[in-house]
Amino acid sequence: MSHQYLKTQPNEKGFFGEYGGSFVPEVLQKEMDSITAAYYSISKSHEFITELRAIRKHFQGRPTPTYFCKNLSNKTGGRIYLKREDLNHTGAHKLNHCMGEGLLAKYLGKKKLIAETGAGQHGVALATAAAYFGLECEIHMGEVDIAKEHPNVVRMKLLGATVIPVTHGLKTLKESVDSAFDAYLKDPINSIYCIGSVVGPHPFPMMVRDFQHVVGVEAREQFLEMTGELPDVVTACVGGGSNAMGIFSGFIDDENVRLVGVEPGGRSLKIGDHAASLSYGKPGVLHGFRSYLLQNDKGEPNPVYSIASGLDYPGSGPEHSMLKDQGRVEYVTANDAECVDSFFTLSRVEGIIPALESSHAVAYAQKYAHENPRKTILVNLSGRGDKDIDFILENYEIPSK
Ligand SMILES: *Cc1c(COP(=O)(O)O)cnc(C)c1O
Repeated sequence: MSHQYLKTQPNEKGFFGEYGGSFVPEVLQKEMDSITAAYYSISKSHEFITELRAIRKHFQGRPTPTYFCKNLSNKTGGRIYLKREDLNHTGAHKLNHCMGEGLLAKYLGKKKLIAETGAGQHGVALATAAAYFGLECEIHMGEVDIAKEHPNVVRMKLLGATVIPVTHGLKTLKESVDSAFDAYLKDPINSIYCIGSVVGPHPFPMMVRDFQHVVGVEAREQFLEMTGELPDVVTACVGGGSNAMGIFSGFIDDENVRLVGVEPGGRSLKIGDHAASLSYGKPGVLHGFRSYLLQNDKGEPNPVYSIASGLDYPGSGPEHSMLKDQGRVEYVTANDAECVDSFFTLSRVEGIIPALESSHAVAYAQKYAHENPRKTILVNLSGRGDKDIDFILENYEIPSK
């Protein structure tokens, strides 16, 4: 099948409809333009594609399986399938775009990968790519996050990355983005900025989506082979939106497949208690791109919260904003309680401990399957939950049988 959609979105200026673009200072715009040009030429070359395919197969362990949840489906009704990105090397989908960004850096002759990280998941994936390609890696991380996410800090150091503590402002993700951008601006010749999701200025939302597209391509093929048809619904959790764009992009030209993005409903729908930017935000500009954002009247980002730190961002990728307005993708929420419930259920009945991020999508799938017993639903299980077990143990009681 042809992927007509991917060839037409975004436009040459990096817009998905009225969203996206590149709202950055002039010096940075030059860098963005050269990365865009390099991306269009290098990443379409036979050598690049061949090398990336080999990496995916031999280093990452792709293709990851698609799995029918027999026990869970017996419980809920319907037929629930998982795309097992938890089995991708390092335990989540993030390595898909980090290996792509690392390979591009190698072809461009860069020496150093620079990025921010919140909970440390993106930092670990990027440090893995840097180790593989023999590149330096500098990860900017808020002091507050460094204290909270100790195991990931150790992982990054083991993998050879330098972790730069960010000590100003709230000392969390937003300040880390600023700090990483500053470091990148000081040495754009030798270094390259590697963003962690389908966010930021053009070309990042497009580039990260294209590197994640493999998830949707594999899942579509596997699902057809297993069942002889396409799923009725495909669903994924949405933070910045990269795992969701990865799987959605494989089905976007299939008009009869419903696509559903699940945002974190958090503790309540009060400001600061959730991070459902597409469901409850308004269009605005943050970190160099236009998208739905949770913001106040002055256009400043609102505080956000989610039990899953990977979903804890006041915006989402610009492509999701366009797909929402077009109605091609529906956006719903799952709250903390529903997420934790699914975390325990999937662990107990299928033997798969899901990341708290991914558990939001599982929660929606369970609800949908229960209400639509004759339908099939495919969930992108974006990552494994080993990283979350200490938090769960401290805050929840493991349910008795
Ligand atoms: C980071 C992360 C997410 C959220 O990022 P997206 O760009 O929205 O995919 C989801 N799941 C896992 C396991 C993550 O580590």
